[in-house]
Amino acid sequence: MARYTGPVCRLCRREKMKLFLKGPKCDSMKCPVERRPYPPGVGGRGRLRESEYLLQLREKQKARRIYGILERQFRNLYAEAARQPGITGENLLRMLELRLDNVVYRANFAASRNQARQFVRHGHVQVNGKRVTIPSYRLRQGDVVEVVPKARDNIVLRHNIDTIDREPPPWLEVEPANHKATARDLPLRAHIDVPVREQLIVELYSK
Ligand code: SF4
Repeated sequence: MARYTGPVCRLCRREKMKLFLKGPKCDSMKCPVERRPYPPGVGGRGRLRESEYLLQLREKQKARRIYGILERQFRNLYAEAARQPGITGENLLRMLELRLDNVVYRANFAASRNQARQFVRHGHVQVNGKRVTIPSYRLRQGDVVEVVPKARDNIVLRHNIDTIDREPPPWLEVEPANHKATARDLPLRAHIDVPVREQLIVELYSK
């Protein structure tokens, strides 16, 4: 499946904020956003007129970059969110949160969503007892995600479980000792801590 393979930190600098795409480096002083908090490239430090369209575009790009999704997939997700009952922006964020790679990241099995995607692709994760290798697989309420027994001794995975102390969201019940996470509820907007104003994305796509 297609994915962005260019320089990752550049994406954060473009959004002028940390998007936490790289794991431990993001919390260190090596983070380029700490040292150069302005967009990359010639004119990065210049003043750009903040039009309404630009604000909407930046929110959409930010959301895409945080979850590591390409434009077409994101637009399809938006279309699905708009067809569902409820608030479109919240539906969209909920669908993004319920992606298998995001859940593996939220459960602290991976240092970043990129790494989580790699674990899923390599067959290290199962859902309800069945191996799933599709990072975009969407979980449903009650689904149980586990690291497959063969991967439990993986050094990187073990290191992550032992050292990462991010607080899991309230809708996800994590049992690190059992390498297991259960999607107890569906995520509410208040429990999705991404710095995205989803209403602006809805405005952009409904033009
Ligand atoms: Fe973004 Fe992390 Fe790179 Fe900093 S280190 S720019 S937060 S990906």
